[in-house]
Amino acid sequence: MPSQEILHARALAEAAQLVLEGLEGLAAIDAVCHSLGEALGVDRFLLVEVANGHLGTLYEWIRPASAERGTIAVDLPLREVEGWLATVAGATGPAVSRRVAPHAALGSLAQRLHHPRADLGVDLLAWQALQSRGLDHLHLVAARFAAAADEGWSAAEVENLAATARLLSTVLHREERRRQDADQLDDAHALRSIIDEQTELIVRRTDSGTIAFVNEAFCRYFGRHREDLIGLSWRPEIPAQDQVLVDFRLANLTPDNPVAAVEHRVVLRGGEVRWLSWTDRARFSAEGTIVDVQSVGRDVTEQRRAEEALRRSEEQFRSLIEQAPEGIFLLDLDLVFVEVNLRACALLEASRSQLVGQHLTAILHPDDQGGLDDELRQALSGATISGQRRFVRSDGQILPGEFIAKQMPDGRLLLMVRDISERKRYEQALIEAKEEAEEASRTKGSFLANMSHELRTPLTGILGMSELLQETELGDDQRDFVDTLRSCAGNLLVLINDALDYAKIEAGRMELESIPFAPVQLVEDTLQLLSEQARAKGLELVSSASPDVPASLLGDPQRLRQVLTNLVGNAIKFTDSGEIEVRLTPHPAVPGEETPLELTVRDTGIGIEPGSQERLFQAFVQADSSTTRKYGGTGLGLAITKRLVELMGGAIHLSSAPGCGSTFSFTLRLPPGPVPGARPQPLPPRRVLLVVANDTLRGALAGQLLGWGLAVQATPDPTSLPTGTWDLVVADRPEVRDLAPRAIALIPLGDRGLDGFAAQVTRPVRLTRLREAVEECLA
Ligand code: ADP
Repeated sequence: MPSQEILHARALAEAAQLVLEGLEGLAAIDAVCHSLGEALGVDRFLLVEVANGHLGTLYEWIRPASAERGTIAVDLPLREVEGWLATVAGATGPAVSRRVAPHAALGSLAQRLHHPRADLGVDLLAWQALQSRGLDHLHLVAARFAAAADEGWSAAEVENLAATARLLSTVLHREERRRQDADQLDDAHALRSIIDEQTELIVRRTDSGTIAFVNEAFCRYFGRHREDLIGLSWRPEIPAQDQVLVDFRLANLTPDNPVAAVEHRVVLRGGEVRWLSWTDRARFSAEGTIVDVQSVGRDVTEQRRAEEALRRSEEQFRSLIEQAPEGIFLLDLDLVFVEVNLRACALLEASRSQLVGQHLTAILHPDDQGGLDDELRQALSGATISGQRRFVRSDGQILPGEFIAKQMPDGRLLLMVRDISERKRYEQALIEAKEEAEEASRTKGSFLANMSHELRTPLTGILGMSELLQETELGDDQRDFVDTLRSCAGNLLVLINDALDYAKIEAGRMELESIPFAPVQLVEDTLQLLSEQARAKGLELVSSASPDVPASLLGDPQRLRQVLTNLVGNAIKFTDSGEIEVRLTPHPAVPGEETPLELTVRDTGIGIEPGSQERLFQAFVQADSSTTRKYGGTGLGLAITKRLVELMGGAIHLSSAPGCGSTFSFTLRLPPGPVPGARPQPLPPRRVLLVVANDTLRGALAGQLLGWGLAVQATPDPTSLPTGTWDLVVADRPEVRDLAPRAIALIPLGDRGLDGFAAQVTRPVRLTRLREAVEECLA
């Protein structure tokens, strides 16, 4: 019977043999435990793991002979068994316990396992840490049931248990390595397929230049098989000018600088030339020589083409900008100059480097920076903005400029500036010239005013003396001379008066009065004064006023009379036959406000060419030079008239055509006068026969008589009288005087009265006089 030690040794050797023969995994662990368990009389072998706060069994071997005692595999929180573990397992090294001390943790485990004994019936435990690499947390626990009280583990047994633990370590290690190898293999496969699937071209060359590795993409790109490349020093065809660059880059790889990048062209199999971009990484030996170079490349042809196109378009844009006659500035979104053209540099007398990097405000006059924010916001929202600004040159000089700004598609702001100093100088010169001219005109005006005054004084003397002379006894020739003298002096006075007025107006010294006057009466008075001239030419002078013309206005009656005199005077002067009508019509007025009144002077004279109508209101202008000879005059009248009307808040208009007469009309804006416009009392509705040859006069008088409440029948011709009986006849001829009980004669001024008429009213007719006559006759 071999000794216990020999049996132990044999079992150990058998187990070791199995492991050496390559038995692996659980089978190997089972085999080792079985062999040693039986030999050593161990009932349970446990591989327990003490990790992550737990004491847990990973593996349990149960001796067939004690199988009925069931498992003692544990899974306990470490903190529950720490104290116990310290006594049974020891801190380090093999630990052997003679008897298992009763322990609460074991008790609860026994309960869970329905074990009749609180100590699980374990009498002896031996702990052996599997103290090899990476397995420190694993312990081999051997349990022996129901041992004699004094029986413990012998030193040889403990030794054998340690050997068992080592054997198990070996098995576990081998298992672990096998798994790692498998994992690594998987990784390598994965890596390879990743590399092959890359669109980047990957190649590795040894120091001698032969290819050690290429990926699929590389083969595909150059149209080669991997087998035709590996081990060879194949290179793609590179144009000579690019080859230099490639060689240079490779030659310059060093251990300190093992990475290089290069872009070059290659000629592919079909002759197509494409661009490749490479990144090379060299590996160096300890001696500093290159072991191999791994290059990763990608096709950048499209990118190069796009860049090239962009570069070309930028070049074109740049050359356009450079040649532009305007200063051009490109600004980024912070309003900092990123580019400027030559003209911009010239405008600001600064170099490109002085300008680029500067903020926009650096070249803007401080007083012209207001509103910039708003404008730029507009520009950044797509609008094109423009305006004028003062820019500051590098020498501090101010440059007046006109600018236009717009955002470019790339977000930058394009600012174009044009030098307008020439224009500004011109404008300034114009302003100065105008001021000078105005000043000269004012000086001229005051000179004229003084001169006219000096002229008028002696002329008044001449007129007065010639008048006195006319009253003396004179021979016929002498009377002729004196008459001519007086008429000439009178003309000269008119001329001087006009000149004086014009000078006054031009000198800004014409001041208008504001006194009450009756507009209708003013018109009648004026016509009265001119009636002699009209009569001399056989012209009818007619005035008419609509009934709502205000009775009184506030203004300058003298100047208004002057305007009317001039217009009616001209009308008489330029009319050879027919009539001159003056009409007064108010425009609808807002109560209490100035009443716009319209005065119209219409004649049946020679008329005026449309082309010269506007010019006539300028001083010294006449329709044509021949009229000067025929009609005389200075050409000042209308100029004075226009200015006076404007001073009265109105405007003058002319409508005329040659041979069709002329109509001058002007408006006035004058405040109402103090006399309320009381309408005349209506007359009893008597029947009146009006016989007047002149249509205008007849129309005006009929309107007036109707307005007073009379029943009027009017006719131009006594041979075709309307039928009926009349209370009153108003006529310009004697034949009809007996058609009514009373008759009023309308006679030209200066004519003798008509016999048999109850009342005489001179023409131009004054309304007040006519009313008196009508009332008198109907009384
Ligand atoms: P004057 O009458 O002294 O020449 P005005 O300024 O009053 O100066 O008139 C300028 C010119 O306008 C006249 O010379 C004449 O040619 C033209 N003109 C003015 N009024 C009339 C009119 N009613 N009919 C025709 N031409 C007229």
